Amino acid sequence: MTSLVPPGATVASLQRQALLDPVDNRILLCHALNLSRTALITQSDRVLTADEAARLSALLQRRLDGEPVAYIIGRREFYGLDFDLTPAVLIPRPETELLVELALERLPPRGRVLDMGTGSGAIAVALAHTRPDATVTALDVSPDALAVARRNASSNDATVRFLHSDWFGATADETFDLIVSNPPYIADGDRHLAEGDLRFEPAGALTDYADGLSALRRIVAGAPAHLERGAWLLMEHGYDQSDAVQELLTAHGYTDVQSWHDLAGIARVTGGRTLR
Ligand code: GLN
Repeated sequence: MTSLVPPGATVASLQRQALLDPVDNRILLCHALNLSRTALITQSDRVLTADEAARLSALLQRRLDGEPVAYIIGRREFYGLDFDLTPAVLIPRPETELLVELALERLPPRGRVLDMGTGSGAIAVALAHTRPDATVTALDVSPDALAVARRNASSNDATVRFLHSDWFGATADETFDLIVSNPPYIADGDRHLAEGDLRFEPAGALTDYADGLSALRRIVAGAPAHLERGAWLLMEHGYDQSDAVQELLTAHGYTDVQSWHDLAGIARVTGGRTLR
């Protein structure tokens, strides 16, 4: 394989190369050379060793082959916290921070919150880190995802109880003051599943292999038995699903049903509360 890093390349010359998006390029350069952003500047004249050149070349090639930067370096920031990632979990998205903010506004003091389909643990860990008074439970059907989520709770000093559960399968008769979820909501066969970063993410975290609403339906139907009176259910969903999710909530007797927009102006989270 020919190297993507020419002989004699310096830290500075590699920052100017145009193979990749400049931000991706910088992140991979820091990762391959184990340098901070500041060190990229202070060491700009340094010529790469053969080992470093080989390591960087391999990372650049993976990115050129389409692999998301977050998987290549094994981490991503979410809600100001650092998360470990493997391809067993979805890469946390900035729009999911909206769900965290709405949850924080509705979580009573010492409240009990359940995160359904936690994946990397991003939502649960952000909540537990921000609100140490809360009792946070997070579940997932994937043992591999739970292993990643446990690591993220511990590295971020967040106390989270994890349950291996297929939706409400293992929640027994427990009740909560808030339920949140970012479930798989992309319809089976949606062309986005075959494009970009999504090709590398776990299919079961993205799609319900049905119409995109089946996980949302199960959560809406099951949550009332696990929510205190007047407690909120908040769910992230796809760009065109807010009307359908509002209808589901209304049909199941929830009140105060509404949707909230993400920073891109897309109705991204819908919720409602059980009757008092
Ligand atoms: N937000 C993701 C995307 O559209 C999907 C995440 C999900 O299905 N929960 O890329």
